[in-house]
Parts: sequence; structure tokens; C-alpha cells
Amino acid sequence: MQHNVQPAMPLCGARRPGWERPGPGRHRLPCVVSTGHAGAHRDAFGKTWQNEQPVLLTEAQATLAYDNTVGVHRTAPIESAMRDIDDCHTTAENAAVPLFQAEIVVTDWKPQAPVQVDGRFQSGGTVDGQFTQLWFSYGATIGTVTPGKAREIATEMRAFAARLEALCDRADEIAAEDHEDDAGRFFARHFPKVAAFLANERARGEQQ
Ligand SMILES: [Zn+2]
Repeated sequence: MQHNVQPAMPLCGARRPGWERPGPGRHRLPCVVSTGHAGAHRDAFGKTWQNEQPVLLTEAQATLAYDNTVGVHRTAPIESAMRDIDDCHTTAENAAVPLFQAEIVVTDWKPQAPVQVDGRFQSGGTVDGQFTQLWFSYGATIGTVTPGKAREIATEMRAFAARLEALCDRADEIAAEDHEDDAGRFFARHFPKVAAFLANERARGEQQ
């Protein structure tokens, strides 16, 4: 007599983030996929969750390399997949520029004095040392910021994204009324005074 019995495999047993939360609940169920598995974890009810943190930086984006054209150590930039949206540029020009870009830059000097009114550094006034900053770009605009300031930007981007989505929801509501006027109604809408004048002239003509 033959039995189709799966060999007993040790289970992964991983818990999802937050499983320590008290109280009964499926959030505490362990992963029942075999140990060392690839892909997402899965509990006995078939609910899945991410196996690991996604890799956010490539090796090159995490590693400094000396750039002798600028004389600084810098990482490869991280770039948004979204490209620039400048109305003044062509589609091809915008496609060449990421909407957001950032990289680490380490210099062995920093200007001693604040940048002058004309945007130049004062000559000769530098402090030697090691200074880690980020170059952050939005479109064609580049700013040099401290890691702390870049973190503030990231926090602001998250908050702004939520408000932007709320704005998009409102725009969708308003856009439900969008329509295309025929030429005459377009004229009446955009030149109401002219339209009123013409209507008035017509009425006077009918009275005569
Ligand atoms: Zn697992």
C-alpha cells in the first residue's frame, strides 16, 4: 500500500512586522512556506507579506568614487523614474532630466564665508576637513544640502504627496464638469463683454 505523503519540511516560521501586537489575531500567524524559501511569506490562510526590505540603493549609489572633474568623492545619483515636466522644454529635453535626483558628495573643504550676494564664494576663505552633503535636484535646479536637510525634504515630500493626492481627487471632481464648447459658446464664455455688447446691438436692431 502506497501513501502520497509529502516529506516533512521545516517551515519558515517568520512573523510579519507588528506580530508582537497584543490580542488575538491573524497578524500573529507564522509563515508556513518551507524554510529558506524565495518570494513572499504566506500564513496558513494564504495571506502574504514582504519577505525583506526592498533594496533601495544599488552598490554604486551607496559607494563613494572620486570624480576628478569636480574634485570630490560622490556616489552615483538616485533618480526618480518620472522625468521633468517643464512647460518651457520639449518632450525630449524633459526626458533627459529626472524630476528628482540626489547623490552624496564628500568634499575636503567648505567655504568659510557665506555665499556672496552675487552667488560667488569669497576667495581664499575655506575650512579644511571632511564635509558630507547631498546634491539634491528638482528638474534642472540643484541644491547642496546637509543630510539633515535632505531628510527634511524627504519628510516634506511624503506630506506633500498626501496633499497632492487630495488635490487630484478634488480636480477629478471638478473635471467631471469639463466639456468642449462649440465656437460660439466658447466666444460667449471668454468674451462675455463682447457677447453682451453684440446681444445688446441685436436687441436694438430688433426694436427699430
Ligand atoms: Zn517565510
